[in-house]
Amino acid sequence: MTARKLIDPKKDTAPARVLRLVLGDQLDKHHSWFSCIDANHLYVVAELVQEQRYVRHHIQKIAAFFLAMDHFARDLRAEGHRFNRYDLDDTAAFKDLPAFLEYLAKFHQVETIEYQLPDEHRLRDQLSVWAKRSSRPVKAIESEHFYLTEAELHAYFKAGKAHRMEHFYRKMRVKFDVLMAGAAPVGGRWNFDQENRKRFPKAINLPEPLLFDNDIVAPVARLRRHNIETVGVEPQTLIWPVTTQQAERLLEDFCLRLLPNFGRYQDAMTDRGWALFHARIAFALNIKLLRPRDVVEAVVDQLGRQVEGVDIAQVEGFVRQILGWREFIRGIYWANMPAYGHSNVLKADGRLPEFYWSGQTDMACMKQALQQSLEYAYAHHIQRLMVTGNFTLLLGVDPREVDAWYLGIYIDAIEWVEMPNTRGMSQFADGGLVASKPYISSGKYIERMSDHCKTCRYDVNLRFGESACPFNVLYWDFLRKHEPRLRKNPRMRMMLSHYDKMASDERQLIATSADQLRQTLATK
Ligand code: FAD
Ligand code: SF4
Repeated sequence: MTARKLIDPKKDTAPARVLRLVLGDQLDKHHSWFSCIDANHLYVVAELVQEQRYVRHHIQKIAAFFLAMDHFARDLRAEGHRFNRYDLDDTAAFKDLPAFLEYLAKFHQVETIEYQLPDEHRLRDQLSVWAKRSSRPVKAIESEHFYLTEAELHAYFKAGKAHRMEHFYRKMRVKFDVLMAGAAPVGGRWNFDQENRKRFPKAINLPEPLLFDNDIVAPVARLRRHNIETVGVEPQTLIWPVTTQQAERLLEDFCLRLLPNFGRYQDAMTDRGWALFHARIAFALNIKLLRPRDVVEAVVDQLGRQVEGVDIAQVEGFVRQILGWREFIRGIYWANMPAYGHSNVLKADGRLPEFYWSGQTDMACMKQALQQSLEYAYAHHIQRLMVTGNFTLLLGVDPREVDAWYLGIYIDAIEWVEMPNTRGMSQFADGGLVASKPYISSGKYIERMSDHCKTCRYDVNLRFGESACPFNVLYWDFLRKHEPRLRKNPRMRMMLSHYDKMASDERQLIATSADQLRQTLATK
């Protein structure tokens, strides 16, 4: 038992009336909990073994969480709040979070325990089950982070219903009066995708990403001490923001340097860089160092400043991600959990190729996406969707394995946002609750949006044979395999019309190549 540690003189050991739990992804200084200082309230934030082991996380992700918790506790203590920060050494002996909370409640003789509703079903379920049997009253309140309250979310999203992001997004624009000129959208249109999504011209200078230099020696040592298995590259220092100030600097840097090209090159990929014009704020947002409203406001503000290159297409393209996609994904998650975590309509049962964990592959596009994921815990949306996700979908990998990989590897991966993006948008495992058709493509899409194919050992123009681009082989094979289901989807007509024109001997050669590819991958 670690009581010795819990009565550590560096910690607040006095009795308290209310114990307030802050989870590692609830580091929001603006939450109403912190609007006044009350000596009756003792706040706690803790590293827990259960949170490090439910999936194999990237080492940078865990370190970032631990450091962000350190800073948060320190800052709130400096503001006068009673705040205890527990590390793995303190908590490792406790079976789980409820056991730890019960211990603390007894130790501090508290009357009530309060927590903010977790964003993850797993934790929400654990806490609500425990709350019912706890010896003290336990109260849950909103995290106050998102645009939509819990009630508004449940009123809009229904279980098992296919919702469409565009429809939801327009409603959100109106409801929150974002980029609106009266009842009409600013710029006269809701969507500027046509102007956006270009590939990089040869001459473009890619910006150097703003990186931080956070010391990770202590968190990494704790991970090692507690035998926590991790994935990814252990860096010298942590480049990700772990304080509100760092998160705000990253946002400011995005507005000043990257926003002018954000929408335009949102879907572009290259061997020449990993961060490109993306904001890289998802981690800061998801642990609540940044508030979505502040982010949207900061970006919309740029439009009024007439910064060179910043036009409605760039700003709208960004606002759609936060006000639209992020809130939409959360709605899908909560309407459909826990069943969503078992969805697999395509009955995919293949194994995730080993090279997802090593980055060792001859496919140039995959190599870039995987190696930067391992090195920085980051890939941008199109790499996640149209490269790594496209490949597992075409290959027919079991969505449980795909989920575990995405949930572990990315700095910003928290289940509520990772799962609907992975199972829904990327793997079509939910049968169309998120996406109206599977996001599949041959190598031709990757060739159009990147420079990867030029250096690749595979030939993007071939559909079968040893040198054929694996995306091509698997794409046509996917259409063959799922033809009956896909025929029912009007949005798949165009893709299938090309398949229909294909000679039967070519289809056979593709099927043979696909089998060979699968066998090769299974043995690697
Ligand atoms: P930018 O490209 O700069 O976009 C700005 C912000 O918009 C992001 O920070 C994010 O908060 C929001 N956003 C954009 N697209 C989405 C989306 N589809 N869903 C929710 N928010 C969005 N995002 C996560 O935050 N966590 C995840 O675990 C995650 N897993 C994903 C898995 C797959 C298979 C796919 C296809 C997408 C996933 N996304 C996830 C969405 C998106 O890829 C990331 O939010 C984005 O790449 C983060 O990088 P950024 O901050 O540079 O984003
Ligand atoms: Fe990727 Fe195929 Fe292009 Fe190679 S040829 S980079 S595998 S799309």
